[in-house]
Amino acid sequence: MERTLLIIKPDAVAKRVTGKILQRVTQQNFRLCALRSERLTAESAGGFYHVHRGKPFYQSLIEFMSSGPILVAVLEKEDAIKSLREVVGATDPQNARQGTIRKEFAESKGHNAVHASDSPESAREEIAFFFPSADFS
Ligand code: ADP
Ligand code: MG
Repeated sequence: MERTLLIIKPDAVAKRVTGKILQRVTQQNFRLCALRSERLTAESAGGFYHVHRGKPFYQSLIEFMSSGPILVAVLEKEDAIKSLREVVGATDPQNARQGTIRKEFAESKGHNAVHASDSPESAREEIAFFFPSADFS
C-alpha cells in the first residue's frame, strides 16, 4: 500500500465541489486516511510549493493557494501516487483526458481544482508538511 496527498484547491472549495471530488477518488478505491480543512498563509503556500520557486507562475500560484480554504487529504491505495495522478489529469484542463477531475472541475492551468503528489519523495514530504505526526488509522 502506498499513500499520497490530495489538495482540493480554493477554486474547487469555492465552487462547492469538494464532495464530488472526494466521491471520485473513493469510487476508485482510494481509502481516505486523513482529511482536514485548512487556510494557507502566503508563507506556508510558498513553503509547500518551494520546488517551483523562481518559476514565472510561482507568485500567482501562492497568491491563489492562500486565497481561500483548501481541503487536504491523505489517500491510500496500491500504486496510489501514479493512480491519483491519472484520476486527476493533466495540469492544464484543456489537455486533461475526459473523465478526469481536472477535465470536469478545473477552469485553467492556474486554477485547476486539485493538487496530487507526483513521486514517492514528494508524497512523503507533502504528507509530512500537513500531517507531521503521521498517526493515520
Ligand atoms: P501539477 O499540479 O500538475 O503537478 P506543476 O507541478 O507543474 O503541475 O505545477 C504546480 C501548479 O502550479 C499547477 O497545478 C498549477 O496550479 C500551477 N501552474 C503550473 N504551470 C502553470 C502555468 N504555466 N501557468 C499558471 N499556473 C501554473
Ligand atoms: Mg506538481
